[in-house]
Amino acid sequence: MSRVAIVTGGTRGIGEAISLALRDMGYKVAANYAGNEERAKAFTDATGIASYKWDVGDHEACLEGCAQVAEDLGPIDVLVNNAGITRDNVMLKMSFEEWNEVIRINLGGCFNMAKAVFPGMRERGWGRIVNIGSINGQAGQYGQVNYAAAKSGIHGFTKALAQEGARAGVTVNAIAPGYIDTDMVAAVPQAVLEKIVARIPVGRLGHAEEIARGVAFLCSEDAGFVTGSTMSINGGQHMY
Ligand code: NDP
Repeated sequence: MSRVAIVTGGTRGIGEAISLALRDMGYKVAANYAGNEERAKAFTDATGIASYKWDVGDHEACLEGCAQVAEDLGPIDVLVNNAGITRDNVMLKMSFEEWNEVIRINLGGCFNMAKAVFPGMRERGWGRIVNIGSINGQAGQYGQVNYAAAKSGIHGFTKALAQEGARAGVTVNAIAPGYIDTDMVAAVPQAVLEKIVARIPVGRLGHAEEIARGVAFLCSEDAGFVTGSTMSINGGQHMY
């Protein structure tokens, strides 16, 4: 049976690697994106994976987007909540807009997307939801009260929803990546990045494919007994 998967923010960075990994497992994949049309077109042209534009922070748009994917590909069995943004600033300078936008997209997006697909997964007795958290949601990070709060919230969201899905065959897990060599990390100043890499025991940034392999496992049939867990993939930077 060919499962249907949605990957939010699935056209570049970690999300792109996740879309490809799920496609390679034989799943029919829909890759969502926010507005980078050029990137989405290049991704779809290169991979044949359909891309769908909507804002995960917009509740109605998520319901409509998921309905469109279901019409095109079939009922949605797998959701990977990967879309995320940063709006870094120290608390003294952080605006309400910077706070609100990160919470709305990074955390609100998980609720909006799960709200659209969770009922159907429960009814059909099978589902996989994987939420991409962050090492900075586990450990905190200077200049990121908004991002750390949203990502920490994702870990709580995961454990609560896992309890609601368990008996219906729906697993809900999180992955907490460390620093991965994507556009998001390319935005970090070089001097700061060098200090970060010096704190990673493995001695390098991670690769998007290394996160995608973890997601692929959690979305597989084999992972049916794994739920409510957080898999840390961070080169040993944060162990607890
Ligand atoms: P990128 O910035 O490279 O890509 C972000 C993706 O999310 C893009 O596809 C973007 O779409 C999409 N996106 C952003 N906002 C929205 C929105 N409102 N609605 C729909 N899609 C949206 O990020 P990464 O690949 O680096 O990160 C992916 C996830 O992993 C994020 O949740 C991030 O917080 C998390 N993470 C990343 C780490 C890292 O080191 N890179 C470390 C820990 C966690 P578009 O292309 O249209 O802009």
